[in-house]
Amino acid sequence: MKKIGVLTSGGDAPGMNAAVRAAVRCGIDKGMEVYGIKRGYEGLLDGEITKMEWHSVGDILQRGGTILRTARSPRFHEDNWIDHGARILGAFGIEGVVVIGGDGSFRGGVELAKRGITVMGVPGTIDNDLGYTDYTIGFDTAVNTILGLITNIRDTSSSHERSTIIEVMGRHCGDLALHSGISGGADVILVPEVECDINEICRRVLEGQATGKGHSLIVMAEGFDMDSSELAKTLEEMTGREARTVVPGYIQRGGSPTEKDRLIATTTAAKAVDLLYDDEDSKAIGVFNGKVVALDLQEALEVKGEFNRDLYELSNVLGKGR
Ligand code: ADP
Repeated sequence: MKKIGVLTSGGDAPGMNAAVRAAVRCGIDKGMEVYGIKRGYEGLLDGEITKMEWHSVGDILQRGGTILRTARSPRFHEDNWIDHGARILGAFGIEGVVVIGGDGSFRGGVELAKRGITVMGVPGTIDNDLGYTDYTIGFDTAVNTILGLITNIRDTSSSHERSTIIEVMGRHCGDLALHSGISGGADVILVPEVECDINEICRRVLEGQATGKGHSLIVMAEGFDMDSSELAKTLEEMTGREARTVVPGYIQRGGSPTEKDRLIATTTAAKAVDLLYDDEDSKAIGVFNGKVVALDLQEALEVKGEFNRDLYELSNVLGKGR
């Protein structure tokens, strides 16, 4: 393969730039021409493609977001537009593309692969919701950002003897809530993978209160089946204590990537380029048991992730009021 493209798609994640840098430099090092495709599939459809040089990706390793920009492309769900995208790549002589994004972006990649383009998926999403890989790029940074927020909120919650519900991102996946919650010492963690009714939440907060706990911290995943403001209202009524909701929103997506995210981004993107250079079929690159792995792109999308129930149970033990 002589010419390859790289794009970032879907929600941005810290570490995407590190992946772009590795893809560009490893490609050039192997003697290939590397093209940057702006604004994900949306930019592809509009032909926003430029040749990248070694120095085009200088000084970006440490930056959050993505220099290639990212987008959601409703057009790219339509067959005729996907055909158009494949034709555009053909016009540039691009035979393979490194797609850095989440499951939606990989599904778009599967469609391009059906049209003769080799696609290597690099997992870039803070949600950690791709079942075939232990980690996705951006997750570690987001967890640490949330952890900082929990630590700050703990100070004010305990001073005012409040209950605080922190609603974190993650879509249908509870990993961001679980990891930040257990590391931040949350009293209750609410995730979409485990049912927990309002009575149980109130009982656990009351048990803490009865043992003299000054405050309670509840970390709730956005995918949990409850409205956080409603939960705060019920908690106030049931516990007689002030309850507040904090929704950090996009703060969770920004910031300089951690060492872990930079390393995963760099090694998975380098692997994607190796596979393109070797003319392999389309694959999803990931991390499994600490090693970089590659699975068939379509099959990877079908792997269901396993929620870490043991970690969740441990958080329940540690959050008990006794
Ligand atoms: P993420 O990649 O973070 O999961 P999205 O789900 O928004 O983000 O997907 C990013 C983009 O990928 C979409 O806007 C769309 O252009 C493309 N995409 C998603 N699903 C498909 C699909 N089934 N077929 C073609 N393109 C898709």
